[in-house]
Amino acid sequence: MRNILQEIKNAVRSRSIHVSYVDVGSCNGCDIEVLACLAPRYDIEQYGIYVHNNPREADVLLVIGSVTPQWVDKLRDIWEKIPEPKVAVAIGNCPISGCVYARKGSLTTPPVENYIPIAASVPGCPPRPTEILSAILSVAPLIFKDYEEKKQ
Ligand code: SF4
Repeated sequence: MRNILQEIKNAVRSRSIHVSYVDVGSCNGCDIEVLACLAPRYDIEQYGIYVHNNPREADVLLVIGSVTPQWVDKLRDIWEKIPEPKVAVAIGNCPISGCVYARKGSLTTPPVENYIPIAASVPGCPPRPTEILSAILSVAPLIFKDYEEKKQ
């Protein structure tokens, strides 16, 4: 009986994915594509995805930018504030490789996976809103499988 109830809860919960995002040093291009997901054209909420400023309310952290030294500790702090179970997704080439900032003399320190675990990456400079939406939906099963057990 418990398993059936658990499966129902997990199924319902998987239609309510809460996302926060952080920019750790970008050109703003990827931020605009994430914001485009909120606009009526892509309407992220129709997929059951909701955006929050408060990481304590998030399941998924979107990370944008090539990681400046000033952001290393803050990024880890934000990640710690998100309750388990949680995943992080790297948005754009910057958190993956540093993109245009990966050059001699640059003060950026990518990749972001050196600081927090990354469940999925969306390459592109910038990636399209549809690719960002797909990535969020693709990591949802990682969070919501056995959600209640992982929460404890
Ligand atoms: S990946 Fe490209 S568009 Fe995105 S923040 Fe980096 S430089 Fe800007």
